[in-house]
Amino acid sequence: MSDALAPITPGSVIGIVGGGQLGRMTAVAAAELGYRVHVFTPEANSPTEQVCEKAFVAPYDDEAAIDAFGQSVDVITFEFENIPAETVRKLSRHAPVRPGWKCLEICQNRVKEKTFATGLGIETAPWREVRSASELAQAIQEIGAPAILKTNTLGYDGKGQVRIRPDTDAASAWAELGADVGVLEGFIDFTMEISVITARRPSGVMASFDVVENRHKDGILDITIAPAKISETLADKARTVAQQLTQAMDMVGLLAVEMFVTQDGHILVNEMAPRPHNSGHWTQDACTTSQFEQFVRAVTGLPLGSTQRHSDAVMKNLIGHDADPWLDILANPDNKLHLYGKNEARPGRKMGHINRLFPKGSQPRGWGN
Ligand code: AMP
Repeated sequence: MSDALAPITPGSVIGIVGGGQLGRMTAVAAAELGYRVHVFTPEANSPTEQVCEKAFVAPYDDEAAIDAFGQSVDVITFEFENIPAETVRKLSRHAPVRPGWKCLEICQNRVKEKTFATGLGIETAPWREVRSASELAQAIQEIGAPAILKTNTLGYDGKGQVRIRPDTDAASAWAELGADVGVLEGFIDFTMEISVITARRPSGVMASFDVVENRHKDGILDITIAPAKISETLADKARTVAQQLTQAMDMVGLLAVEMFVTQDGHILVNEMAPRPHNSGHWTQDACTTSQFEQFVRAVTGLPLGSTQRHSDAVMKNLIGHDADPWLDILANPDNKLHLYGKNEARPGRKMGHINRLFPKGSQPRGWGN
């Protein structure tokens, strides 16, 4: 067995870059498999720090912190992908970095992401790269309105987006975006938003979880319904697209792919994330292996676990003050409550989530029905 394929053994230290709830839930899953976790994050008392062995709290470009963290771990992964290339390069001097830079680079940048998907023959919404108000005006002419103008980098949870209507003035929309590079996307009148999470080991073996439906509120994920109520043919197509992207990226770890299902039954790729994803939280309670355990298995080179779904599930995000009535939430014994250890509830901030399970095949339609 070559070194790259030798498993990183339980008892070793997994280094996680990023200190949010995804790192926290990964650290808990890592502990269940006997690993120790160190986190590197600019945030003091982060959700991940609260549950791991050691935290390196410093900006992502702090060279001394990069070296100290890198030297203290056996493998490095990310719960947050917007990391400078230079940081990733320096970290890779100390330990294997999984996934590698190629995956992060593609997923950090909408132009690269869409170009990559298109290169594989995978469909996306029509789009144009724009670098000025006049390029935006030209792109609106070509794509038409309604459309959505997005920042090329650093967009998440609907942030960094401007809606373009037929009467929108290109110059003011460009000023509102406030970025050097933008992407104008045609507005898709989708029937459903879906996502697929795929794990891939260093050996190339892959496993995907079931396709799920995602419903957003104000650009932020509100609920995930597992499985998505779509035909087997469409579900197969979505899994195939997700695995094609995962393989072509040479991903080691998890790749979450968000897609739109169009009125005429096409699947368009919207966004990818090279890490555990909010739309995979339902797996914690409804699958043999959670996305977090699968992530740990993939980056340490362990055999992947079964992705089998033993129940249908609905996941609801608790945003801002939604988690304040935690005691009432717990009073319903069917609510599986997960809280992230964040002290301050700010608008739009993800504080926790609830998973509810349903007998398989019962087809839950939403939250509370
Ligand atoms: P994003 O940050 O790109 O994932 O966008 C956040 C949400 O905005 C998506 O989950 C969709 O609900 C909506 N959205 C983004 N792009 C489009 C599009 N091209 N057409 C329609 N809705 C979109």
